[in-house]
Amino acid sequence: MQDGFGRDLHYLRLSVTERCNFRCAYCLPEGCRRPAEADVLSADELDRLVRAFSRLGFWKLRITGGEPTLRSDIVDVVGRLARVPGIRRLGLTTNGSRLLDLAPALRAAGLTALNVSLDSLDPERFARVTGVSGLESIVAGVEKALEVGIPSVKVNVVLLRGLEDLEIDRFLEWTRRLPLHVRFIELMQTGNSAAFFRSHHLPAHELRQKLEQRGWAALPKDSTDGPATMLGHLGHPGKVGVIAPYSNSFCSTCNRIRVSASGALRLCLFGNQEIPLRPALQPDAGEDALDRLIESTFKAKPQSHLLDQETLSVPPTFAAIGG
Ligand code: SAM
Ligand code: SF4
Repeated sequence: MQDGFGRDLHYLRLSVTERCNFRCAYCLPEGCRRPAEADVLSADELDRLVRAFSRLGFWKLRITGGEPTLRSDIVDVVGRLARVPGIRRLGLTTNGSRLLDLAPALRAAGLTALNVSLDSLDPERFARVTGVSGLESIVAGVEKALEVGIPSVKVNVVLLRGLEDLEIDRFLEWTRRLPLHVRFIELMQTGNSAAFFRSHHLPAHELRQKLEQRGWAALPKDSTDGPATMLGHLGHPGKVGVIAPYSNSFCSTCNRIRVSASGALRLCLFGNQEIPLRPALQPDAGEDALDRLIESTFKAKPQSHLLDQETLSVPPTFAAIGG
């Protein structure tokens, strides 16, 4: 499937809940105000949705949220979506709070890629950023995920001012001990985080310089890198990545479509345009109608988020869209 700018669309990011148990300072600083899971897609609706995308040629799927592991049926959802014909890669993005318990079951259910968001390895700074304690269990959960053999395990670190050299070195040391990918992601401005963004935004190139000073060098692009520039270092089985959403190349290779927890399709992480899919996901609606509805949206995918020109509105937070 191609969009109007010749980009090959094959990657679906699917939010399965808007609820979250963290209060990350750049995302949900006041905590999650969502009540129970009244309007989220059921496991059956998720299954129908992913089957439709797969029929349209999508083969890469990531489950996100909110915090996806707060869904009591998350292992069942992973298992069902892993069995959809044509889905070759199934990832999950999590804050890691339930990972230590869930890693073996997620692996057995067919998860192939796990991204754990972890912004600090210092317990106090971790608590300041996320509003909760429990760093130790998340670190243990990441190591458990490697131990049980989830094929790709990545740690995502949002770049925030105050990320001191000592902290960077802690993450780098982790990549020396284990075959982990640690990816530093530049903070993006959302509607609710404008003031936080102004005080905490750290441009990705500043970190890149620090990595190069420590002997890290850019690696040839790999098809699994996504928008990250990956760097390697002799003696480290792990790798480090830098994701710079404000750089030009971020949109030119965008291959993603997003669907929110209540079944609204979004063509770009930014902007307000949403196409409701839920009515077409009901059993009596027919596969063909669902496929045609989804397919009809692709040509409208914008060429760029135009963040630097501020022509697209930014969402209030990424918790509803899944980042
Ligand atoms: N709760 C899960 C988690 O934190 O991994 C999944 C949802 S969360 C919205 C997905 C990703 O978006 C996380 O890696 C988080 O750090 C990132 N994110 C949220 N707000 C962001 C922002 N303003 N700038 C950059 N990344 C952000
Ligand atoms: Fe929750 Fe993830 Fe947002 Fe943090 S980034 S508040 S863990 S949804």
